[in-house]
Amino acid sequence: MRPIKHIHGDKAPHWVGDGFYVKTLFNHLDNDPYFNHRHTDPFLLLDYGQPTSFAPNPNFATQPHGIGQHPHKGFETVTIAYAGEISHADSAGGCGIIQQGDVQWMTAGRGIMHEEFHSPAFGQRGGLFSMVQLWVNLPSAHKLTAPKYQTLKRHDLPIVNLADNKVGHAIGKAAIIAGEWQSTVGAASTFTPINMWDIELDNTGSTTLQVPNNHNILLLVQEGTLLINATPVSAGNLVQFAAPTATDFDINVANAQAAQASDSIELTYAKSSDDKQAPSSVKLLLLSGEPIGEPVAGYGPFVMNTQTELKQTFRDYQTGNFGK
Ligand code: MN
Repeated sequence: MRPIKHIHGDKAPHWVGDGFYVKTLFNHLDNDPYFNHRHTDPFLLLDYGQPTSFAPNPNFATQPHGIGQHPHKGFETVTIAYAGEISHADSAGGCGIIQQGDVQWMTAGRGIMHEEFHSPAFGQRGGLFSMVQLWVNLPSAHKLTAPKYQTLKRHDLPIVNLADNKVGHAIGKAAIIAGEWQSTVGAASTFTPINMWDIELDNTGSTTLQVPNNHNILLLVQEGTLLINATPVSAGNLVQFAAPTATDFDINVANAQAAQASDSIELTYAKSSDDKQAPSSVKLLLLSGEPIGEPVAGYGPFVMNTQTELKQTFRDYQTGNFGK
């Protein structure tokens, strides 16, 4: 079992533009010695917009809530819509509406400009809005890759049942956004090995997840309360697991034919029948990834490997050469 290293409690939310009220649960710019980029690599940043109510916007067509044109370079943004809708358009021609349950995987690569707004339909009606935006780093070999856009509709995501360890019936399910669970392969193509599983438990029991032993692992609890490796964790918390137990070196020297060794994580949920106020399920987002292990030089919307590359990116942006 991969032990829990720390449970990161609630954070104060802030606005991104006027449309996204998010808590930044980690950021590669943080320099906490116990929780910094080394512990989240290959993930750079996680913004969680917990369910927030928006009034109908009478100016939804001309002044939608959100953020207008802005650049990104050197990494990927992954947006998951849990409630509400996000409309997106970028300079590489990618555009679409991310509806409830959908995922947008945008590769900024050598440089992209985009805008992110509440969709016209959501702006007009208002209601509950909840999303995640994750920044995934690109290794130096792919940092300047051409921009790319993957639309992953909810029905494109393979769903696997999570079986109770004793009884064997399903106590919940996981949508495999990226990576692999048992022999089910996720919908997204990624540049480095990553697992991104959107998990829901709605029945009492215990189930065990297996994650490669050379991955960093993080688990966000979005709704409900459960035991993770026998430790109680409630909504709004981010679980940081101990460092990988194997390095790439260990894996390379192991028999190449042998299956990737894994670490387990045990999830135990007790559905409450008396407490009508309690959520009727637990929602979790599991993130794991093989650390890229390269230096990171980032500022604002740009994440490069060196300060020289970062300065050049700002010069390119100011002189109209961005993304070329
Ligand atoms: Mn953006």
